[in-house]
Amino acid sequence: MPTTTALPASPVSPPPSLPDARGRFGRFGGAFVPEILQPVLADVREAWEAAKADPEFQAEYRRLLRDYVGRPTPLTRCDRLTERLGGATIYAKREDLCHTGAHKINNAIGQVLLARRMGKERIIAETGAGQHGVATATACALFGIECVVYMGSEDIERQNLNVKRMRLLGAEVRPATSGSQTLKDATNEAFRDWVSNPTTTYYIIGSAIGPHPYPAMVRDLHRVIGEETRAQLKEQTGSETPDAVVACVGGGSNAIGIFAPYVGDADVRLVGVEASGEGLDGRHAATLSKGEPAVFHGTMTYLLQDADGQVEIAHSISAGLDYPGVGPEHAYLKDAGRVEYRTATDAEALDAVRLLSETEGIIPALETAHAIAVLESLAREIGAGGTLVFNCSGRGDKDMATISAHLFDDDSARLGASAAQPTEAG
Ligand SMILES: *Cc1c(COP(=O)(O)O)cnc(C)c1O
Repeated sequence: MPTTTALPASPVSPPPSLPDARGRFGRFGGAFVPEILQPVLADVREAWEAAKADPEFQAEYRRLLRDYVGRPTPLTRCDRLTERLGGATIYAKREDLCHTGAHKINNAIGQVLLARRMGKERIIAETGAGQHGVATATACALFGIECVVYMGSEDIERQNLNVKRMRLLGAEVRPATSGSQTLKDATNEAFRDWVSNPTTTYYIIGSAIGPHPYPAMVRDLHRVIGEETRAQLKEQTGSETPDAVVACVGGGSNAIGIFAPYVGDADVRLVGVEASGEGLDGRHAATLSKGEPAVFHGTMTYLLQDADGQVEIAHSISAGLDYPGVGPEHAYLKDAGRVEYRTATDAEALDAVRLLSETEGIIPALETAHAIAVLESLAREIGAGGTLVFNCSGRGDKDMATISAHLFDDDSARLGASAAQPTEAG
């Protein structure tokens, strides 16, 4: 078990068998980008392979995870939640306690280190909830690197606090005004920028998505979540393996980070939870449940499409899950039957925010709440005496306006439009 002084267990080293040399996870993954970006991606691949194998790079990365991010994050046994739900003993992996309030900083720090190693002088990123933008702006401030963050105009509205954070950190926030004005449009803008500035600029993708090598690189940078969980669970329960591990899935980075060290343990159930928004028959973001394989943002994966094959606008109450694609490794793990993917609605997520807040004194992010929403049924399926770990991917401060508008009608009326920015009426 890592102590406060030990460096986190070597998070980027274990060579996984997938993806293959072309970045494929079975029929998913790959690198489908304009020709001008092929050599740029090849550079990133080469630099990442070299960095992974370089003990100095690893030591610097692990030092920053410990001394800047605050790792290892705790594994908290949730006694009152366990009692309330009546089944398996539930543990929370506390990524909400990372610097900046979510898991995303693990990835941002690693990729900024890589960009520096490659001699890049400018960083671009896309962001949905604003969390990846904040994490990237934070890492850029730490190293004094220029930072431009693309963000959908709708997300700029509903995540205004994070926009202010990014500006305070010295980043420029550029609105993406096309399409649904959310994460997928911000991603398009970021790709456009990269095509125009391929030599000076490094593009930090914020989830386990995009062209090879990003899905594998982002997984490897978040793998520390699962590695720590194993060691901490062993110390607390005597066994590294729980009966099940649960995480919410947007692009899939917090989920793949905690799943990766468990994929080889056939007796550990892995459960990913997507956002079913208003319900699977209404507007939602349940890509793995309802999507079809297609090439999207440089990778072959499941994608929400309409009858004409156009990208469908995803909906979730949480901006971080509001993405019509999903990481290609999740597409593979779904087809392989290794991971079960479930869904939770907006309403179920709101109930789950209240549940964790009241029972454990932890206000989770709306994204995280989707994972919490399936704990009751899962804890009962596993039963008393079993163990269940969920990835508490982030804290709810950034979502308080949305949460209060839905849970406290009176307050939202009093707060008015200046403070509360609900995405939906209600
Ligand atoms: C961004 C975000 C997510 C969704 O992203 P993944 O890549 O699927 O992990 C989940 N939880 C929080 C707190 C986030 O900020």
